[in-house]
Amino acid sequence: MKKNNKNNWWRSAPRSFFFAIALFVGFFILLQQLTDYSRQISTLSYTAFLDKVATDQVSKVYVAGQEVRGLLKDGAQFETVIGNQDTIWDLLTQHHVEVVVANTSNALNIWYLLPFLLFLLVVGFGIMMVIRQSRGSGNGGGGNIFNMGKSKAKMFMPSTIKETFESVAGATEAKEELLDVIDFLRNPKKYKRLGAKITRGVLLVGEPGNGKTLLARAVAGEANCPFFSTSGSDFIEVFVGVGAARVRDLFAQARKNAPSILFIDEIDAVGRQRGSGMGGGHDEREQTLNQLLTEMDGFETTHAPVIVLAATNRPDVLDKALLRPGRFDRRVDVPFPDLTSREAILRLHAADVKLDNKSVDLKKVAQGTPGFSGADLANLINEGAIMAAKQNKDLIDVKDLEEARDKMMLGKESKTMLLTLEDRTLTAYHEAGHALMGLLQPVEANPLYKVTIIPRGKTLGTTHSLPEREKYTQTKDEMLADVMVSLGGRAAEELVFNKYTTGAYSDLRSASHVVRNMICYYGMSDNLGPIIYSQNQYEYQYSQKTAESIDEEVRVITQECYEKTVAVLQANRDKLEKLAQALLEKETMFAAEIYALLGIEPRVEHRF
Ligand code: ADP
Ligand code: ZN
Repeated sequence: MKKNNKNNWWRSAPRSFFFAIALFVGFFILLQQLTDYSRQISTLSYTAFLDKVATDQVSKVYVAGQEVRGLLKDGAQFETVIGNQDTIWDLLTQHHVEVVVANTSNALNIWYLLPFLLFLLVVGFGIMMVIRQSRGSGNGGGGNIFNMGKSKAKMFMPSTIKETFESVAGATEAKEELLDVIDFLRNPKKYKRLGAKITRGVLLVGEPGNGKTLLARAVAGEANCPFFSTSGSDFIEVFVGVGAARVRDLFAQARKNAPSILFIDEIDAVGRQRGSGMGGGHDEREQTLNQLLTEMDGFETTHAPVIVLAATNRPDVLDKALLRPGRFDRRVDVPFPDLTSREAILRLHAADVKLDNKSVDLKKVAQGTPGFSGADLANLINEGAIMAAKQNKDLIDVKDLEEARDKMMLGKESKTMLLTLEDRTLTAYHEAGHALMGLLQPVEANPLYKVTIIPRGKTLGTTHSLPEREKYTQTKDEMLADVMVSLGGRAAEELVFNKYTTGAYSDLRSASHVVRNMICYYGMSDNLGPIIYSQNQYEYQYSQKTAESIDEEVRVITQECYEKTVAVLQANRDKLEKLAQALLEKETMFAAEIYALLGIEPRVEHRF
């Protein structure tokens, strides 16, 4: 639920725009009047001035150096320039003219300065407006410069919050941890009675799309209290002090509506370690962070509580002060969903669409989507529905979901990419090589799921395999099996066509990566022993000599794997031919078809 705050800008922009125009016009009229006013002042010659004084027409003069401004008895104004004669003073006194003499050394003539000041004001205002608009902001209440210190948070009243814990599938541990918070929001008195200090801030930690926002809203829904939603980046402005003012405003609003929940997404945008910023411009951020800390310390937690839920996927960069007791002292992890959670999330979102329950087994879909976030899974169901709708189907079937998954994993199927027969043949053998290495090896390799030579995105073909279970550890044999599956493509090309292509680049890269990790991080090399060789500057470093041994060991292990792979494929050349030809014909084959074709006993059932 990434809320798009930008949708408000067009609404507030005209407001500030008209405001600017009105101000401009106002200034213009004022200027006009001032100049008109000065035009009514007539300029007298020195003789005419002396004449007026002599005939008692002058009531008052302002003298600034040689410049004289005066008021006649009939109310008219005049100005003139006088010479250096001192005789003028006597004349003025004789005719009872009131004389005001300005100190000429720093005489600032307001009438000359005022237009200039106004001009500066208008230009400054214009520049400010341009900055605001070009930043594409003006979101929410911030569109007008006079609202800059107002928080941009959106407020949701309890009646508009539809999410409850039932809207969040899986995430059992996170929910359990948040139950306390809900109970506290519901019955603050129960806790106050015993003098219990309850959490003010909870940090939700997890990668985007795993339901942090959803959980926060669900807490508000469960506790039946108002929900304020904002993002750390909303506090960041060019003008110093604005962020802090917004924090103050936000907490004031939340307190006014307490008990309430205040959700700050991407708190790392303001919460980064102080003094760690590169370059200038972090004064503003530090001020904002300090204000946040002050507000967290300040609010009364027991009477009408405000609970702050903040989300981040970078808890490591947060300022330690934020994590101190009384602030965000509780951390709730919101990880990628595991197999059961994935199934639950799929089930939840599938309830909103028409699914062909006969062909679709959501458990298998869950097995086929390791590493998908909750948002990815929601999207998978939606993409599947779009696929089915395009073909005017009544129900979403397993093919639609597979298509949707492949599309999400690899980019859109490229229908326009026409391959020559030669390319297609090469790809078919390459993929058959991967697939066979997966099939023919003992249990260690991940089970095959499907093979295709339909190009998608930048890949010409793909061999999918699925981890059998959620794997947290891998054995050395499993890693070696993975390496051999990766090398199967290149080995098949060499065996059949005796030539190398660039198509194996990403295979070779992943093989080298696995082998290097085996040696450097998992101590799986007999020659180099159970030792960590890290290039990370914060860990132990190794010598140039060791570096050479590592390179040599990577080469030896990879080469051994490659030779074994070539040998396996050579021994099964008939199967390689059969599979490649079948792929050329069918383009896509699922594991079951391949097992049947090659007469191999299937290890696991792989279809969704
Ligand atoms: P985050 O805030 O962690 O980036 P969101 O809460 O915005 O993630 O999740 C985005 C969307 O993904 C949600 O609106 C929901 O549709 C879906 N989603 C994520 N996790 C779950 C879950 N556990 N159960 C149901 N839907 C989920
Ligand atoms: Zn390959």
